[in-house]
Amino acid sequence: MKFNISMTSLTHLLKIFKEHDIDVPADGRTLLKTPRSGSLRITEKSGGKYTYFGLKEGLTHTLSEQDTSKYDHFEISLNIDGLPIFKSKNLTMWPLQCAVINVDEVKNSPFVVALFSGAKKPSDLEFLRDFMEELQELMETGFKGKRIVLKNIICDAPARALIKGIVQFNGRYGCDFCDVKGVHESKMLFLYKGNLRTNESFRQKTNPEHHKTDSILLNLDIDMIRKFPIDPMHCVDLGVTKRMLMLWKEGPLAHRLSDGHLSTITYFHQAVRHHIPPEFNRKPRGLDELKHWKATEFRTFLLYTGPVILKYVLDKKKYIHFLSLSIGMRILYSENLMEHRDYADELLTYFVEKGSSLYSMSFISYNVHCLLHLTDVANYNRSLHYCSAYKFENNMGQIKRFIHGSSDPLIQVANRLAERQAISSSKKSNVTSGTPKTKECYRMTNDSYCLIHGVQENLIFCEVFCRMEPLYTKPCDSRIIGIFKGFRDHTKMLHTDTTQLTHKAIMIPL
Ligand SMILES: [Zn+2]
Repeated sequence: MKFNISMTSLTHLLKIFKEHDIDVPADGRTLLKTPRSGSLRITEKSGGKYTYFGLKEGLTHTLSEQDTSKYDHFEISLNIDGLPIFKSKNLTMWPLQCAVINVDEVKNSPFVVALFSGAKKPSDLEFLRDFMEELQELMETGFKGKRIVLKNIICDAPARALIKGIVQFNGRYGCDFCDVKGVHESKMLFLYKGNLRTNESFRQKTNPEHHKTDSILLNLDIDMIRKFPIDPMHCVDLGVTKRMLMLWKEGPLAHRLSDGHLSTITYFHQAVRHHIPPEFNRKPRGLDELKHWKATEFRTFLLYTGPVILKYVLDKKKYIHFLSLSIGMRILYSENLMEHRDYADELLTYFVEKGSSLYSMSFISYNVHCLLHLTDVANYNRSLHYCSAYKFENNMGQIKRFIHGSSDPLIQVANRLAERQAISSSKKSNVTSGTPKTKECYRMTNDSYCLIHGVQENLIFCEVFCRMEPLYTKPCDSRIIGIFKGFRDHTKMLHTDTTQLTHKAIMIPL
């Protein structure tokens, strides 16, 4: 499973083992417990092929090895998104994925409840019906004595419009959260925050131009606004942050950075690659590869590398403008910075309003406008972490790798998912274990920071930074959100133990 080899190769490998008298099954399908052909129920739905695995089935498997006695309910996050499989054949797959987001051990381990595949996106919402009916039943009867709560439904803006039955984000009344009327200036711009939409106003269609069809999700007793959060991965990382970098690299001359400044960012990213811890899926790349950056690279730039290097590259106004977004997002991602949520809202509002004068009016597109609603989204979901598509996107990548050849991709994926479930009876959180290692940086119980030089069992030998200054002081002192500038010529060596370490930190050399 780990190396994702094809079934033919696996069977061939087993044959070689057998020739050396190793006791293994003769067929790869027996080894991997592949479902027997014909055991999968595939039907035609929403203009494509469809199969349903079940919500209860997924919950049972996901929670099977967890001690859930302390929970009185389980919060379900549902993800609906399309995955292009073969661009040349126009084939897409739409997995419905769920995660139990209030159980720490499994909150980042989604499971697939249904699969749809077709030449086009689903033609209607029938592919959601089985899930909805089972969810409705579980919300009424509970699961193993616990309440089931649908916490949120995470999609990008086009999928959100499809399943809510509303106009697309580039429509005149395309904002999901307020009734602002868009202005068309080569693209739709949303210049201010309108009256907030509510579940009642949505269901009563008080703004008829916002609606296209009656979604079958209206049958569920859920808040049609709050349950559909803005996903920060699509909106901010792949939306706003990417747009700013494209402006600086290839935008109008007035906003473009000089070749020297662009190279400075590229060199900086190359220099800090090795300082980015393994918890980050991808290391920073240069701006020469900007078109190939993945969402997580934009996120690393916005939250970590950008605030450091842009200080030397942008003019002061644009730097503070960028920091407003960076700090606002950092606060909304963190449950520990909850007390600063109102400040985050001020910063994001400043970012949106100042954007039109610093760049142009066309800056206030849908994604930028959504920042005005992001604090409400974070507050309802505890933090943006709980409504980000990253955990589902990572699973989508695996699903794509399950497919070898264009023959019956739905069956291939369904079989690989069943094998994965049979082999790995316990899904573990993908967060790397917190054991400290040499060259890692940590925050300590006395709020100082240290660099680990040696570890022996629970004893550590570390270099503690004695002089800690803010990286920036405007729009706020960076130390408020845990960003410090340390000096290697003001440190002391210390023998201590791992109980003195509280959080892993990232150290970026300047
Ligand atoms: Zn709005």
